[in-house]
Amino acid sequence: MMAPVFVSHGSPTLVFDDVPARDFLRRLGTSMPRPKAVVVASAHWETRLPAVSAMAVNETIHDFGGFPDILYQQQYNAPGDPALAARVAGLLTDAGLPATLDAGRGLDHGAWVPLMLAWPEADVPVLQVSLQTHLGPAHHLRLGRALAELAKEDVLVIGSGSFTHDLRSVAWRGPNEAPDWVTEFADWANAALAEGRLDDLLNYRTLAPSAARNHPTEEHFLPLFVALGAGGTAATPLHQSLTFSVLRMDAYAFAA
Ligand code: ZN
Repeated sequence: MMAPVFVSHGSPTLVFDDVPARDFLRRLGTSMPRPKAVVVASAHWETRLPAVSAMAVNETIHDFGGFPDILYQQQYNAPGDPALAARVAGLLTDAGLPATLDAGRGLDHGAWVPLMLAWPEADVPVLQVSLQTHLGPAHHLRLGRALAELAKEDVLVIGSGSFTHDLRSVAWRGPNEAPDWVTEFADWANAALAEGRLDDLLNYRTLAPSAARNHPTEEHFLPLFVALGAGGTAATPLHQSLTFSVLRMDAYAFAA
């Protein structure tokens, strides 16, 4: 069994930033057996209906603006796995979530930033599954559950988002100190995960303190539900830290 994980990918600059979250992701690759392939549900691929990327060799998408040139020069052209992509689309379709293949979609930074740190050789096959942000947490739990059997085949399912994500409040130049509304939301979510309160998590937007402030839009929190759905409600905290005052970098592994 390869426990699905949720990771917070933070800013694209994470590949260069000397912060604990980068060190955690660097260790992640060596802390587990090498996956046969990685399936990433990233906050940065949203479609109306589920889609699965199916390139033979992934291209690197630089889907951000205003960062240093060196970030646009980064390449993470890991192999894809079109056969696995077809299987993933079939699993989703069988679960009542009709999915299409996208043979022209490469890896967005929600995928390649953490993967570049965890598997720098770019030799583990990778494909992505898109989010349907307008359908909310329960849909993404279902999407994750449809992928659960991949874990038994040494395929790693990763949900890549951000535990908190109010970009309007990002402090690019320190001090890196969380305001109360960030800490209160993260504490609530950490407690709900520790106690396996799935219904509360699904209704986080009404129950968690400052939920809409920490996630003005939901796409960075929804990958957590994909990983939870694929793994189960037994959540193991893998990492907790903060970048830029408001981006909590918490990560989890999920098992039944
Ligand atoms: Zn992001």
